[in-house]
Amino acid sequence: MKKIKTDFLIVGSGLYGCVIAERLANVLKKKVTIIEKRNHIGGNCYSEIDEQTGIEFHKYGTHIFHTSKKNVWNYLKKFTSLNNYKHQVLSNYKSKIYQMPINLETINKFFNKKLDPSTAELFLKNKTKKFIKNNPNNFEEKALMQIGKELYKAFIEGYTEKQWGKSPKKLPSSIFNRLPIRFNYDKTYFKNADIEGIPLDGYTEVFKRLTSNPLIKIIYNKSFNLQQKYIVNNAIVYTGPLDKLLNYKFGKLEWRSVKFKKKILNKKDYQGTSVMNYPEKKIKFTRIHEPRHLHSNRKYKEKTLIIKEYPELNSNEPYYPINDKKNRLIHSKYVNYLNKNYKNFFTGGRLADYAYYDMDMTIAAALKKFEFIKKNLK
Ligand code: UDP
Repeated sequence: MKKIKTDFLIVGSGLYGCVIAERLANVLKKKVTIIEKRNHIGGNCYSEIDEQTGIEFHKYGTHIFHTSKKNVWNYLKKFTSLNNYKHQVLSNYKSKIYQMPINLETINKFFNKKLDPSTAELFLKNKTKKFIKNNPNNFEEKALMQIGKELYKAFIEGYTEKQWGKSPKKLPSSIFNRLPIRFNYDKTYFKNADIEGIPLDGYTEVFKRLTSNPLIKIIYNKSFNLQQKYIVNNAIVYTGPLDKLLNYKFGKLEWRSVKFKKKILNKKDYQGTSVMNYPEKKIKFTRIHEPRHLHSNRKYKEKTLIIKEYPELNSNEPYYPINDKKNRLIHSKYVNYLNKNYKNFFTGGRLADYAYYDMDMTIAAALKKFEFIKKNLK
């Protein structure tokens, strides 16, 4: 097989890899080769059109772009505009529908009350006071001190156990920080969302535009390993998991994975919203996605597509890092080893950084890494 000859070799065509490739080619006029082990671009942001319904869906789970970072939006808007989608999530608990994250509507409906914002805050304070701690040690402690036992048991405990495959007592409290608690009727999902929406032409189009410079070449169905010889003039940027790269020499990093089951229904609309959570432990899936709601500006047929999401423990597809002390220690060993032993070898992105990045955080990290590479280029 012909040896790869390039200025920069990028491993992985997800958001991190493609943003760096775009910058290297368009700003520095470098020749970039991306190798991708899957048969498509875009990492877990990849979207495609379902043949039977014509509905565009996100193959690896619903992705909503949202950011409050100005530099990220200034960058991304060169490649796409967003539609008017604003994310809202509902939770189906014992066949009743509640708003998620927990807001005044959730509290009033769940406790059968008519509280206003300040009385609701007092009401919940009463329920949480016995759990207050200065430094919550884990997810459960953090959740209990913010929402109390009843709401925790109904909406959080079962969902979290299913999603992460372990007791919330064994998870870092930082995961709970992702969910806002609101004492008003604001039903939007994200905390940081000055800009929010779905790329008008879908995610895959954005990736095609990011990599449209003829200086960028993508090779699909190709894995990377350190033993293989590549002719790389400047540097390698690796965006995959570090444990696999180094043959698990410091141990395996734990990941939570998910599986999706698609179903086509002969009705226009199944659940009236894009994501419905199912927090009860006895229901095996965590949520149902209905992607027709992501592009309300499109005309779809009288059929709909629903996708059930099932958590998985033992899978080769890493999705969510289990960012506790033990795993962070293992990860830092890999990072130190690579820094010590490999020159002109950069790593980054959700997998390589072992970080629970949202898309805007990934873009921000890639832009920062590009500036670093540019500064240090001989
Ligand atoms: N979570 C929950 N119940 C819900 C939604 C979220 O317990 O209805 C918890 C769960 O532990 C989850 C975390 O909050 O992993 C973060 O939720 P988020 O929606 O940010 O997860 P993602 O969409 O990234 O899977």
